[in-house]
Amino acid sequence: MNIHEYQAKSVLREFGVPVPRGVPIFALDEAEAAAKDLGGPVWVVKSQIHAGGRGKGTFKEAQAGEKGGVRLARSIDEVKAYVEQILGNTLVTVQTGPAGRQVNRIYLEDGSNIAKEFYLSLLVDRVTSRVSFVVSTEGGMDIEEVAHKTPERITTFSVDPATGIMPHHGRTVAKALDLEGDLAKQVGTLVGQLYTAFVSKDMEMLEINPLIVSAEGQIRCLDAKISFDSNALYRHPDVVALRDEGEEDAKEIEASKYDLNYITLEGTIGCMVNGAGLAMATMDIIKLYGAAPANFLDVGGGATKEKVAAAFKIITADPNVKGILVNIFGGIMKCDVIAEGVIAAVKEVGLQVPLVVRLEGTNVDLGKKIIGESGLNVISADDLDDAAQKIVAAVNGTP
Ligand code: GDP
Ligand code: MN
Repeated sequence: MNIHEYQAKSVLREFGVPVPRGVPIFALDEAEAAAKDLGGPVWVVKSQIHAGGRGKGTFKEAQAGEKGGVRLARSIDEVKAYVEQILGNTLVTVQTGPAGRQVNRIYLEDGSNIAKEFYLSLLVDRVTSRVSFVVSTEGGMDIEEVAHKTPERITTFSVDPATGIMPHHGRTVAKALDLEGDLAKQVGTLVGQLYTAFVSKDMEMLEINPLIVSAEGQIRCLDAKISFDSNALYRHPDVVALRDEGEEDAKEIEASKYDLNYITLEGTIGCMVNGAGLAMATMDIIKLYGAAPANFLDVGGGATKEKVAAAFKIITADPNVKGILVNIFGGIMKCDVIAEGVIAAVKEVGLQVPLVVRLEGTNVDLGKKIIGESGLNVISADDLDDAAQKIVAAVNGTP
């Protein structure tokens, strides 16, 4: 689960992390009071969307100007003008895709005087099963690009969970950033605070880009991005409360209500599969035959007819879906339950696109009989290969 920058900074503040003062703004009439409260003389007007690259982003609407989603203001009037321009408009960044994201919240921040910019992030490294730090002198840049072009400017290390964070980790970061004396000390403290925040809140990723040294010699986190481990949210109601459903895919929210493993993708073939491995294989084979999946969906082992029907409805409601492939290898999941779920959903919402069904395993004959007697216009398939070819042909309009 992701949160906004201003929320991430407030989480970090709880752990003593140095972040600038700021006020979230939801409407234009809040701008003046917020600006006065912060005092200036420089303010930063920051668009809040769940995507990075805001500074270099552009707005779709002309009145929002050409200057990007993060702006420096030098007077209260300028703050008000920027808030008015940005609020409600659509920001397009390298991470939003061409459709962009509507900005409904702004974070007004006390402006910092930047002397140096760095990159620092923490993430769960699946290879070492530890929390890893990624540190670079190249702040404010896209870290993937830095890794590609100048990998020698990136330092990474992981923390042994048995000992936890140690003073030497702080020294490693200070050395990587070429900091000495008081700044090295500040960074050492920061490294401990970030690690504690990361572990206590079950984060998956914590990215500070840029981390800065101010002209006054203070280490500060100027940007903050946090994603939390969704499987641990049950023990963090305070984090769940930060969820902004407006930033999430409506289909994925609906799927989460039914405990379905569903992810929206860019293709045209809707997939309903049981088991993550089979779902991956199904997506691969659709690609092999020249089309692309519209989603990943694992209905799981013990799905009920209602859950299957909900899943099918989520797929059919997606306007990008031009055909549906149901691929079930019945084990714990029974083919007849799938068949009944699909039929229940079609009865309710109809079926506008071709549907290929491949059933195998437990209660396969019963499942096929239920579909056969339903009067549904289903193209049946014998195996995965056959199923993929048939749905791709149906979607492409070729026999
Ligand atoms: P992002 O583009 O979505 O990563 O948004 P950031 O919060 O990182 O802001 C983009 C850039 O704006 C930063 O890399 C900084 O260079 C600049 N910026 C942000 N806050 C300040 C500030 O307080 N003072 C100055 N001078 N620049 C800032
Ligand atoms: Mn940033």
